[in-house]
Amino acid sequence: MNKNKISKTLYDKIWDAHLINEDNGSSLIYVDRQLIHEVTSPQAFEGLRINNRKPWRIDAHLAVADHNVPTTTSNRGSGTSGIKDKTSRIQVETLEENCREFGISYFNLDDDNQGIVHIVGPEQGLTQPGMVIVCGDSHTSTHGAFATLAFGIGTSEVEHVLATQTLIQQRSKNMLVKVDGILNFGVTSKDIILHIIAKIGTAGATGYVIEYAGNTIESLSMEGRMTICNMSIEAGARAGLIACDQTTISYIKGRPLAPKGDEWLKAVEYWQTLKSDHDAIFDHEIIIDANDIAPQVTWGTSPEDTLPITANIPALEDFTDINKREAVKRSLEYMGLKSGMKITDIAIDKVFIGSCTNGRIEDLRAVANIVKGKKVSKSIKLAMIVPGSGLVKKQAESEGLHKIFIESGFEWREPGCSMCLAMNADKLEFGERCASTSNRNFEGRQGRGGRTHLMSPIMAAVASITGHLTDIRYFT
Ligand code: SF4
Repeated sequence: MNKNKISKTLYDKIWDAHLINEDNGSSLIYVDRQLIHEVTSPQAFEGLRINNRKPWRIDAHLAVADHNVPTTTSNRGSGTSGIKDKTSRIQVETLEENCREFGISYFNLDDDNQGIVHIVGPEQGLTQPGMVIVCGDSHTSTHGAFATLAFGIGTSEVEHVLATQTLIQQRSKNMLVKVDGILNFGVTSKDIILHIIAKIGTAGATGYVIEYAGNTIESLSMEGRMTICNMSIEAGARAGLIACDQTTISYIKGRPLAPKGDEWLKAVEYWQTLKSDHDAIFDHEIIIDANDIAPQVTWGTSPEDTLPITANIPALEDFTDINKREAVKRSLEYMGLKSGMKITDIAIDKVFIGSCTNGRIEDLRAVANIVKGKKVSKSIKLAMIVPGSGLVKKQAESEGLHKIFIESGFEWREPGCSMCLAMNADKLEFGERCASTSNRNFEGRQGRGGRTHLMSPIMAAVASITGHLTDIRYFT
């Protein structure tokens, strides 16, 4: 044994492998890949233009429009002219023009490979273990499921990465969240991450990168792992990470941008080292028993406002902190809920199944299993299923899932961010209440005055059938 060996966490290994220079707590790190979308990139490209710069490594970037794209088939057939909102249309057209001018790879709206940026990256094999990946979007943390250090950056940083392939950052602290045990029936990766956020709060991981470990995490598919890492940002973390294992390697193998031949063998050899050393020291550790997790739903306007489906809406007296009590009071008013009422008594108006958290094929298969042969409740105004990418849509249709959804009364849409946020035509009206599989329940997130309840795809599926929030464990 080498006595001089310094034990490292997975985060420290990736960080150290990308560190170019460190000075007074500021570090310059190399960035392997950047994903680009229409909302945070226009000023970045404009900056390049003004300063007469070119991207340093053109093949390190991949662009796709997702936030502003329409999801109805009739609007999608006509390309960007199908985008009715002028600002949204200009953003997508600007992205297309910028990608043409600077030579960046871009998937058109009618390309099967188009989709939500955090679904497209892994799908294409662009997301690989050991890399540093950035994107001008908070939920870049999704890619951490691949033992990839991935985080969201600002517009000026998007320009910096385009021009230099580097970024100035500060090293984060290490947090370990260990989940062990077998998940109960009806409990999914979405419930795990909502449970974690409820436990540590939205600022619980500020200043940290979280590594998720334990046999529950290891047993998850890549889709499930992505759901968990996706919402790390909602706990305040800079990023989320999961060690590379055979599940990771099998997912990447054969994807268009995955290494091939000898390069594949070399890559796998390196990827297998991408785990924390057994004696690595974390700055903070949290242990969770998977058995303690019930299906979760949010009741308020922060992802930490999460409770098991069996709970009642909290009372103000439950909170000793005066600021939290004020926040809860405002949340209850905004959400139109009364303290003490049963969560299962909350009726909903709309159902949204999709987003970069839960718009993958595994999510859609799970929903199809629930709704097959059943009908969306007559009290529901709209139930929509929005695949996370064109490839997810194609796969779902090849399995006949779309027929099950349509037969049940769901709208089957084109890929995009859709009703995850109110930046396209898919919105909640004032006061409408939504069962949503997305990741944020902030005021107005799904439309002005809209009320969001976050949950897993299968919980949203049962709510669509019953018309109210429902415990899947007692649903027949
Ligand atoms: S689906 Fe929602 S969270 Fe994900 S990238 Fe789109 S807007 Fe952001």
